[in-house]
Amino acid sequence: MSDSSLRVVWVYPDLLSTYGDQGNVLVVGRRAHQRGLNVDRIDVRSDQPVPTSGDIYLIGGGEDRPQRLAAERLVRDGGLQRAVDNGAIVFSVCAGYQILGHEFVNDQGERQPGLGLLDVTSVRGTGVRCVGDVLADMDEHLRLPQLTGFENHQGITHLGPTARPLARVRFGNGNGTGDGTEGAWNDTVFGTYMHGPVLARNPLIADLLLKLALDVNALPPVDDRWYEALRAERIAAATQPA
Ligand code: GLN
Repeated sequence: MSDSSLRVVWVYPDLLSTYGDQGNVLVVGRRAHQRGLNVDRIDVRSDQPVPTSGDIYLIGGGEDRPQRLAAERLVRDGGLQRAVDNGAIVFSVCAGYQILGHEFVNDQGERQPGLGLLDVTSVRGTGVRCVGDVLADMDEHLRLPQLTGFENHQGITHLGPTARPLARVRFGNGNGTGDGTEGAWNDTVFGTYMHGPVLARNPLIADLLLKLALDVNALPPVDDRWYEALRAERIAAATQPA
């Protein structure tokens, strides 16, 4: 972190913000402000270089064509990989998650290289699209409450040996491979199939990103009653489908 402000970089809002992904930027900023931290928010459009000096990078979901364009530009740019080499934290959603892996199948049916920041590979699922509420137990190493979210994806993602599953599904599909895993992470890079503003339902994941950026084990508590009510409502929706 720089001396005065936490630098939060939102990667490619022009291509990868189809599903309200700005919500994740807002939640990280809000949770930081509640702890008295200044946030320098940096929105990086796809025609701009990705700065390498950010603390936390957020990358969202998108339709198949914008996903192809985003991956092409990110691979060519190289800034996100350099930032991770410098210890930056990345939180990615759906199309963004697939882009962080070794490769995915694009809108033209071709295998397209990703950034290789997560040891995962995505292919196009042959079954029905994975759509619906999800409830999953977070990886025990992360010591976080259950993950709640909504998924909407055709791709399915296989984890390699150096990627840990972010969570294990109780309801829903997650990575869609049938092994019960959802998302992936390694030291500082996280990916999930939970759609859009997933941090609004899971604010303690935003706190985890802040703790990693600040290199602290704990943050001052904040009033989470609003979030807890939202979580309870969405967990009920996931576990008691209409
Ligand atoms: N295009 C990808 C898929 O369908 C990602 C979709 C998304 O970001 N929701 O798998």
